[in-house]
Order: sequence, then structure tokens, then C-alpha cells
Amino acid sequence: GKKLHLEIITPDASVLSEDVDFVLVRALDGDLGVMPSHAPLIASLRIWPLYYEIDGKRHCVSVAQGFMEVNNNVVTVITPAAEKPEDIDVERAERARKRAEKRLQEHQAGIDEVRAEAALKRALSRLDVANYH
Ligand code: ATP
Repeated sequence: GKKLHLEIITPDASVLSEDVDFVLVRALDGDLGVMPSHAPLIASLRIWPLYYEIDGKRHCVSVAQGFMEVNNNVVTVITPAAEKPEDIDVERAERARKRAEKRLQEHQAGIDEVRAEAALKRALSRLDVANYH
């Protein structure tokens, strides 16, 4: 049947370019599922795994914010960082998680706390994706 073309692009590389049946992202105002023939849209993404389906099989990629555009059965995600499960360094993500948790326990106010929260979300999303099968 009809497919969607999913492109995930970071400043460094094209992380994914595949024909898929379904895409699910976490946008600022909630989860957003996209199937073929979806109306055009632009959404801001949270730090969260992006799920996609090919022939009934689910896959995922960790996406750290950015934007998604849907137009003419092309889904384009432009994001500062995205990783497939096999490209995730689990120990690095664990270290990042611990570092962020430690910073949050120090209860600093302001920008450092906001940064630590984002770093923690990136680490947790990567750990989720690395363990997804
Ligand atoms: P760290 O503190 O470990 O660097 P971070 O969340 O600050 O983590 P980012 O700034 O989001 O890292 O990403 C910088 C680059 O490193 C991106 O290209 C991202 O894909 C990659 N990256 C970050 N963490 C991992 C990981 N655990 N495994 C593989 N690649 C990673």
C-alpha cells in the first residue's frame, strides 16, 4: 500500500531515510501519529523516542527535540541529535544520566537545572531506545 517517506536529519548526518507505514512522535502538545495521506503539518518535538512501523514491525530512534514536517507523504525530522538503537553507547548514556541526576540533586536554580533536566531526558530516551526490541 501507500507508504510514508521518513527522513531524520541532524547537523552531522542523515540518520534515517526509509519508507514506512506509520510514525509516532511526542510533540509539545502530545503524541502525534502519522499515517499515509496525513494533512500537512509542522510540529515541535520533545526529547523522546520516535517510533515507526514497517510491514507491522516497530522500530525506534531517540530524538532530542527539533521539528517534524509532514507534507505529501514525506515526514522530515530535523533535530540536534538522533540515534538508532545500534548506535547508542549505553555506558555513555548511563554516565550522562548519573551526571544529570547528581546535578539535579544539588538543587541549583535557573539555567543549570534546566540544562540538567534536558540532559537527563536525553539520557533516558537513549537508554529506552537502546533497550527497545
Ligand atoms: P553526553 O553528555 O554523553 O555528551 P549529551 O546528551 O550531552 O550526552 P548531545 O549533545 O545530545 O549529547 O549529543 C552530542 C552528539 O553525541 C550527538 O551527535 C549525539 O547523537 C551523540 N550522542 C550523545 N550521547 C550518545 C550515546 N549515548 N550514544 C551514541 N551517541 C550519542
